[in-house]
Amino acid sequence: EERTRELREANQKLMELDEMKTAFVSQASHDLRTPLAAIKGSLDNLVLGVAGDLSDKQRRILDRASRSVDRLTDLINDILDLSRIETGRTKLEKCKIAVNTIAESVVQENKPAAEWKRITIRYQNPTEPLYVYADAGKMQRVFGELVNNAIKYTREEGTIDLLLDEAEGMIRFSVKDTGIGMNAEECKRIWERFYRTVDSQFLAKGSGLGLSIAKELVEMHDGKIRVESEKGKGSCFRVLLPKMEIKARAEKEKEVVS
Ligand code: ADP
Repeated sequence: EERTRELREANQKLMELDEMKTAFVSQASHDLRTPLAAIKGSLDNLVLGVAGDLSDKQRRILDRASRSVDRLTDLINDILDLSRIETGRTKLEKCKIAVNTIAESVVQENKPAAEWKRITIRYQNPTEPLYVYADAGKMQRVFGELVNNAIKYTREEGTIDLLLDEAEGMIRFSVKDTGIGMNAEECKRIWERFYRTVDSQFLAKGSGLGLSIAKELVEMHDGKIRVESEKGKGSCFRVLLPKMEIKARAEKEKEVVS
């Protein structure tokens, strides 16, 4: 009994510490955003020539500083988003959406980055719209994350194939690339916070948080996210979401029961 009591107390203490950590991370990240926005504003003003003309070298240095501030801001926003999800403060605004439109807009959004690396994105919109009951903004973020990663981790002249179809009674969105790929151990670990494969670090910058956020968001929608990959050959990420009819039926049944 004594041992059980001690364990319970230790557990309670750990939970309190964990909550304090989450609150601290959240507050610190929030506080960092304001001065960062000010630094960004000042850098932009300098680049615009507000303080006088710039030499090419000065402009290059300022551009580098500006990109670093952008990366830091993205990282802080990701940390804040994850802490919101962890503490249950992320609310979904679900409605009936055609995933085709989301896939389309993600392709348009990522085209310039792909063209920059001469990467071909192939996407054939299905003839019939495929509906899901989801938060459109959050899904756009998930799909965008996968396409953006495919571009980041594929070398020049590669190809990315996007496919929207039905599988396992769900709506499936697949992103297949001809990029650097991963081994089985890496495939398991990429969902962990801050994890990045060694190879990927030579190719592109990143925080290692995007897929953790994507996984949480997909699971909040009762969906699944998976990867198949082969080192040096490429990867295929898939998101599976419940079909609209199933959701609608489940909601109806709930209404009948209550
Ligand atoms: P980030 O891209 O910011 O590092 P993510 O959480 O999006 O973070 O991805 C985690 C890691 O998974 C990446 O750093 C990379 O090592 C690996 N990864 C993700 N997508 C791919 C891909 N399409 N091909 C190869 N590796 C990938």
